[in-house]
Amino acid sequence: MVPDYIVPLGGGIYAIDTGFQRPRFDAAYLLVENGRAAFIDTGTNHAVPRLLAALDFVDLTPAAVDWVIPTHVHLDHAGGVGLLMQSLPQATVLVHPRGLRHMVDPTALFEGALAVYGMEEMQRSYGQLQPVAAERVQASHDGQTIELAGRPLLLIDTPGHARHHHCIWDAQSRGWFTGDTFGLSYREFDTAAGLEWLMPTSTPVQFDPQALRA
Ligand SMILES: [Zn+2]
Repeated sequence: MVPDYIVPLGGGIYAIDTGFQRPRFDAAYLLVENGRAAFIDTGTNHAVPRLLAALDFVDLTPAAVDWVIPTHVHLDHAGGVGLLMQSLPQATVLVHPRGLRHMVDPTALFEGALAVYGMEEMQRSYGQLQPVAAERVQASHDGQTIELAGRPLLLIDTPGHARHHHCIWDAQSRGWFTGDTFGLSYREFDTAAGLEWLMPTSTPVQFDPQALRA
């Protein structure tokens, strides 16, 4: 039986509801190819038990994970990377070059969010951010291709929502992992005719409409 927070999408791709704020609001993805795995985005620290349970669900151990790829370092996408990495002995983090230092030392990331939300909300929503050892983090570059058990994944630099954002093209499923670049869409706003309402992810502080459109 599939746990209610795991949605198999086919092609070895599983969406995992991270549980952030409310059900079906924030997703991470598990990609499986020939016994090896990658996580694309992680959600927050509080999502880590679900991510590890998803591995168990597909009959893989944490040692089967080769890559953890946050689309960008905002906490709803990457806040759990450090804690997750503590359970993944073989994994490497692949992050946009502008986000790399925040994975190795999340102090500034935490302080920035703390100034907005306050400590009570930081603990409730995010928990304490964990650093990743520098030798376990790689910077991506535009046009780079990595492989997951031979399955190519293409990294594209996508500034606009944030300057530290890349997107991932999976040629095998012909799918993009877009992070916050494509937009936001909430099912509560779907119309009676089944149309989906979307809006650009214009979150401060690096939102650049021209770059996002490009
Ligand atoms: Zn974001």
